[in-house]
Amino acid sequence: MKEFELIKHFFTEQNVKRKDVLQGIGDDCAVIASTENQNIVVTTDTLVAGVHFPLETSARAIGHKAVAVNLSDIAAMGAKPSWISLAITLPDIDNAWLTEFCAGVFELCEYYNVELIGGDTTQGPLSITITAQGLIPEGKYLSRSGAKAGDWLYVTGEIGDAALALQHINNEVTLEQDFIEPIQNKLDYPKPRVLAGQALREYASAAIDISDGLLADLGHICQASNVGANIVLDAIPLSQILRDSLFFDDAIKLALNGGDDYELLFTISEDNKVGMETALTNVGIQCTCIGQINATQTISTTLNNKPVPISSSGFEHFSEK
Ligand code: ADP
Ligand code: MG
Repeated sequence: MKEFELIKHFFTEQNVKRKDVLQGIGDDCAVIASTENQNIVVTTDTLVAGVHFPLETSARAIGHKAVAVNLSDIAAMGAKPSWISLAITLPDIDNAWLTEFCAGVFELCEYYNVELIGGDTTQGPLSITITAQGLIPEGKYLSRSGAKAGDWLYVTGEIGDAALALQHINNEVTLEQDFIEPIQNKLDYPKPRVLAGQALREYASAAIDISDGLLADLGHICQASNVGANIVLDAIPLSQILRDSLFFDDAIKLALNGGDDYELLFTISEDNKVGMETALTNVGIQCTCIGQINATQTISTTLNNKPVPISSSGFEHFSEK
């Protein structure tokens, strides 16, 4: 199969057809109708085999994750995802692999009405770059820089399971047989908090998605907002599996430093707390208050109401290991 046949066969066969896409895949550029009173948010994320996912990851999971990590960024801005483009580098043309990969990509696209509008296909070591775009009412986007001393710190969902899955893959932990599949799914099929992000638009003072680890990503909010924070370690929502698999200290360390959770971390003023909790309940998303923003410019942690030191920050590329 040649490049053009491949594109036609795999990437043009999608069920999402948006009215605002005037020209999709097939010309030199995609053409999108501009929308009045809306801002467009744009983000790009690359997944490199062996770096961002283990080499043995299934093609469907890779497709899902490549879209999910981008939609997670869109969610963190409070926007509604609308279009993606896909630059893929493939070692060879493997029909079965591509079929599964596309299933993973298009499942999420269909769920959120996101159209694949173009891309690029090249040969080389497996790598996937997706650019996603989304719409948001003018000026309403959530940023990292709006947190104020006194705001409450919240996360959606549960933290640390994806990092536990990685430990399992790397033989650093022995999991009960029943835990392996659900934990593996948390790593392979992260759920971008798209509806939660939009629900938070009216309430949150700052937001970020947790990709590099809770501590590192909270650090980004604090730096951008020029504030500090205290995390109440006993309040961090951990899954039952994580609690049952590790000692509490180790579970908390994973939750603080592990990555790939793709939950939202956000700050809320006292006045917006009740509205936010109702809005998230309405979209069926659990959230937990895990601390408070302060004016110290540092991140501290407490356990049983007592201060405890924190050792290392989250996963960073190019950091010395
Ligand atoms: P050009 O040479 O003009 O850049 P290409 O030959 O690379 O165009 O691609 C032809 C069409 O197929 C373009 O519309 C491009 O956006 C689309 N396309 C190429 N690769 C992909 C892909 N992996 N996913 C989606 N669309 C793709
Ligand atoms: Mg061209």
